[in-house]
Amino acid sequence: MPDRTPNKKILILLCALIAWCSGCASKHESVQINLQKLQDRTQDALAGKNGAAVVMDVRSGRVLALVNPRIAAGRSFPVGSALKPLAALAALEQGAASPNLMLPCKGVTSLHGHDYPCWLHGGHGSLDMAQALAQSCNIYFYTLGARINGSKMSALASRFGFGKTTGISLSDYGIKEDSGRIPGTLTPELVSRFAAGDTPEFRATPLQMAVFTAALANGGRVFKPERVRTDTFALPQKNLMGLSPAMDSAEALAVVRAGMEQCVTSPLGTCHALANMGYSSAGKTGTARHAAGPRTHAWFIGYTPVDDPEAAVVVFLERGEGGRDAAPAARRIMQAWHQCKFY
Ligand SMILES: [Zn+2]
Repeated sequence: MPDRTPNKKILILLCALIAWCSGCASKHESVQINLQKLQDRTQDALAGKNGAAVVMDVRSGRVLALVNPRIAAGRSFPVGSALKPLAALAALEQGAASPNLMLPCKGVTSLHGHDYPCWLHGGHGSLDMAQALAQSCNIYFYTLGARINGSKMSALASRFGFGKTTGISLSDYGIKEDSGRIPGTLTPELVSRFAAGDTPEFRATPLQMAVFTAALANGGRVFKPERVRTDTFALPQKNLMGLSPAMDSAEALAVVRAGMEQCVTSPLGTCHALANMGYSSAGKTGTARHAAGPRTHAWFIGYTPVDDPEAAVVVFLERGEGGRDAAPAARRIMQAWHQCKFY
C-alpha cells in the first residue's frame, strides 16, 4: 500500500528516538547519592564543634546534607577571606585588573593613610590573582580594593544572592532565615577591607555561601536552595535550566576556579589539608574576626571534583581558623560525598 513506507519510516524514527531517550535516562539517573549516609558523615565531620555545614548539588541547588540549620541559615557572620573570590570577580568584571596582574606583598602596605598587614608577616612576594587567592594574600586584595568600584562589587554580591534571604523552606525547623548584609555606604578604606574580606559590614549565612560556591562551580548560576528529604538523590547531568547566570564571564570564573584549585594543590595554599585525599577538589578558606574579642570564625568553601563539579561544601565553625580547622572537616565531607555515591 502506498502509505506504508512513510509509516514504517516514522516507526523506525520513533524507535530510534525512544532508544536514544532511554539511553539518556539511564545515563541521567546513573549516579545516586545515599543521603542518610551523607548526612551522618557530614555531621561526624563536625563532631564536638560548634558550627554548621552545607552540602549542595551544584547543578540544581538542592541541599543534600545540612548540619545545624539554625546556624547554617538562621545566622549570618563575617566571612573573612572566603569573600576574596567575589572581589576577584568584581575586579575582573569591572576591568580593574587582569588575571595576570602581579602585585607585591611585603607583609604590610600603606593605603588610605593606614597600614594594612598581611597575615603572613614576612610577605608573600609578587603574586598573580590565582596565586593571591590560593595563598589568601591580604595585601593583594587590599590593593585590588583600591582599584575597584565598591558599589559595583556590592551589586555583584547581590546578584550572587547575598544581602537577601535565599527563600529556602525552613518551616520544619521553626527558624527564620537571616538575610546577611552587604555594605551600604562605602568609603575607600571600606572598599579595600571589603575586597580582602576584612570587614564585619559584610555578613553571610553558611547557606548563602553554599549558593555562591555552587555558582562558582556551575558557571555562575544562582539557585534557590531546597532541602531534599528522600533517601537517595539522582545527580542531574546538567545544570537545571531557567536561571540566568549572575555573571556571564566564563573567563573570570575560570580565574577564580584556578585559584581555588591551587589553594588545594599548591603546598603554599591555605586549603592544603585537602590535598591527596583521593578525589580532586578546589576551595577557599576564611578566618574572620568576631565583632568583639580576639577569637575568630573558621570558614571553608569549595567543591568536588574539579572537572565537572558535583558538590559544593561549606563548613563554618564558630571558633577556629579556616585552614587549620574548617579545611580538614571539609576534606572528610568531600571524601564522604564520593563514598556515598552508587550506581
Ligand atoms: Zn600577602
